[in-house]
Amino acid sequence: IFDEYSIKSLVRPIPDFPKAGVTFRDITPLYQSPRAMRMVADSLIQRYVESPITHIAAIDARGFLLGSVLAYELNKPLILVRKAGKLPADVISETYSSEYGDCVVEMHRDALKGGEQVLLLDDLIATGGTFLAAARLVKQLGGNVYEAGAIIDLPDLGGSRKMQDADIPTYTLCAFE
Ligand code: 5GP
Repeated sequence: IFDEYSIKSLVRPIPDFPKAGVTFRDITPLYQSPRAMRMVADSLIQRYVESPITHIAAIDARGFLLGSVLAYELNKPLILVRKAGKLPADVISETYSSEYGDCVVEMHRDALKGGEQVLLLDDLIATGGTFLAAARLVKQLGGNVYEAGAIIDLPDLGGSRKMQDADIPTYTLCAFE
């Protein structure tokens, strides 16, 4: 059974990280709890097991940890959305501005052929910039974003709202107001 309270109790607020005025939600205590991680993984697996998704695109770096569990369990191809300069073959890129400055995300050009139903996965939605850029990568290659799933939403930063406005459905397991 999913227990939102025990998940949230394993997310630790770190004031002034990575810069003054930002409170970073640190999920490493959650990743260190097998029981809580099983709850997180099982909830997401249950949500998507009967969905039409064909591919999972996981976002650098904490999204990779969720993405690999779901790709294994749902038996779907895993695609990596990486920060600039990390992927070795021919890439496509998207630029966005985050809380911390300008960022670039990339995907291998041959990761999708067109027509796929892609589940985007990351640990957290803040301003939504990362997910929106990842969605643009998927669209560049002709895929459709079925949903963007994460453990945590920070609704005060407006990301999930901005994504709904862009017609990208979102799903999160908990939120910090
Ligand atoms: P956004 O693009 O929505 O503003 O930021 C989300 C991205 O930045 C995600 O990849 C997430 O891992 C990272 N991020 C931003 N703020 C936080 C935070 O407070 N905690 C964690 N764990 N990740 C964050």
